[in-house]
Amino acid sequence: MKSIIESEKHIPVVYEADVVVAGGGISGMIAALTAAGIGTRTVLVERFGRLGGNLGPGYLLGGTARDETDEFLRRDLPDVPRKLFRQLADMQLPSPDGNLWAPISQAVSYLAQCMAHETGLTLMLSAYAADPVMEGNRAEGLFVEGKSGRVAVHAPVVVDATGDANIARRAGAPIIEGATPDQSAYRLAGASEPDGCEPYNESALFYLIGDVDFDRYERFVAEKTVIDPKVKNWATEHLRGPKVHRFPDHVLPLLYQAWRSGEFDSIRKLEHPKVTVSSAGSHLQRCGASLAGGRAVNAAGSFDIGDMNHITLLEATMRKQTFETFLFLRRNVPGFEQARLLAMSEFVGGRGGPCIEGRYTLTVDDSAKGKTFDDVLFRNYKRVPKLRPNWTETGCDIPYRILLPKEVEGMLVTGRGAAYVRRGHDGAAQMRGRPAMMALGQATGMAAALCARDNVTPSSMNVRRLQAQLLARGFDLGDEKRLASLGL
Ligand SMILES: Cc1cc2nc3c(=O)[nH]c(=O)nc-3n(C[C@H](O)[C@H](O)[C@H](O)COP(=O)(O)OP(=O)(O)OC[C@H]3O[C@@H](n4cnc5c(N)ncnc54)[C@H](O)[C@@H]3O)c2cc1C
Repeated sequence: MKSIIESEKHIPVVYEADVVVAGGGISGMIAALTAAGIGTRTVLVERFGRLGGNLGPGYLLGGTARDETDEFLRRDLPDVPRKLFRQLADMQLPSPDGNLWAPISQAVSYLAQCMAHETGLTLMLSAYAADPVMEGNRAEGLFVEGKSGRVAVHAPVVVDATGDANIARRAGAPIIEGATPDQSAYRLAGASEPDGCEPYNESALFYLIGDVDFDRYERFVAEKTVIDPKVKNWATEHLRGPKVHRFPDHVLPLLYQAWRSGEFDSIRKLEHPKVTVSSAGSHLQRCGASLAGGRAVNAAGSFDIGDMNHITLLEATMRKQTFETFLFLRRNVPGFEQARLLAMSEFVGGRGGPCIEGRYTLTVDDSAKGKTFDDVLFRNYKRVPKLRPNWTETGCDIPYRILLPKEVEGMLVTGRGAAYVRRGHDGAAQMRGRPAMMALGQATGMAAALCARDNVTPSSMNVRRLQAQLLARGFDLGDEKRLASLGL
């Protein structure tokens, strides 16, 4: 490939900090709020104009807002995310009826911003964390791209919370590519693929449609109907069966018609990378009086969320697909005649993607067997009921070393970019789940603050000191016997 040499230039250092965090998503915002909250000079760089990642501009789907909030508060969440969710619950916002988070994602961003203000956290929004500032193999800050050009933040501890280990990769850390990991996760766990639970490396774009007349729509789907076998066969062949395709039967003849006339194709196969984008409508659901939400889904394939070309293709295809789904609904489906497409999430989120090769990489086997580690940060209990009912009932230790990239100093990698194998609805004790991501974020923020305060690198930090602090902040590191064995 042709290359161009960039000429040397002087980059202004806009902040001298103790800790700089790249990415203000689920783990990054909690890491930054934690570090700032204990008096550490912390800068958080987020590429969008608001915080929250998959809980904010990503609009993440999964669980009704109220149920999820209650569930989070019931769990042993450490104090920083607990505070955020307590405030969210206290707002008593109307909870969307459906399995969609989007309608309250703005509240998450709002609360995180208020907490940033309270803790003295410095925000750089609409700012892209580009490269780490390197001194040999040690990261000492970040180059940030924004409206005013390239600037630098100087800090002895860099936290990569981009979700895809972007900064660690650029620092030269070995990376585990995450293209088709879920099948291997099953094998690693010694489990056969259970019925009704597809292994996948899903990514999705969420959307909201307003002004839906649900009375009319529900009357339509309540009508008696007999579906032509030809349409049924087509749906099974073209839409890959009811597991993937979740439109009510009544919509099938309309879909078939629109497909035959060339007006709308609800499933698109992309050759490069080999992915299938399915119609947003397949997950369409009611989530307010006249509000519907849904998602366009990349169900599987060798898609790499860390690859610029792949992400461009997927963003473009999913946005086109979403808009055309909206047009299809408006033109064809009773109740949608006056509908408007209100919003699409600001980015395509991925469950998979690359992660670092850590000083230790947590495997599915570790979580299935409930392995313990002396550098435990917390125990993660999330069960994966469809996979193995008794899995991780006893929990699995999440070790500190999954935050440490190999061959690079001065850096902690948190969230989805940390070293655990992997992904979707797989094992690794559901590490990708939001509670674990938030706990990991807080542990990372506390580790970063300790390193900065004691002037040590993350790889030489005293883990026992960190563990003692984690215990004091509500983390579950095990029972009393276990704590005694760790000298805590
Ligand atoms: C389709 C889908 C469904 C899911 N469903 C569930 C569910 O039902 N339940 C559940 O618990 N979990 C679910 N998850 C998983 C969960 O959302 C993720 O594991 C979690 O968001 C990972 O947190 P994170 O902080 O690593 O990444 P994110 O929340 O994605 O945050 C990454 C942040 O970094 C920012 N960023 C990235 N690169 C840069 C850069 N270079 N410069 C500046 N900022 C940058 C992004 O804008 C974003 O704010 C789902 C995920 C997906 C994709």
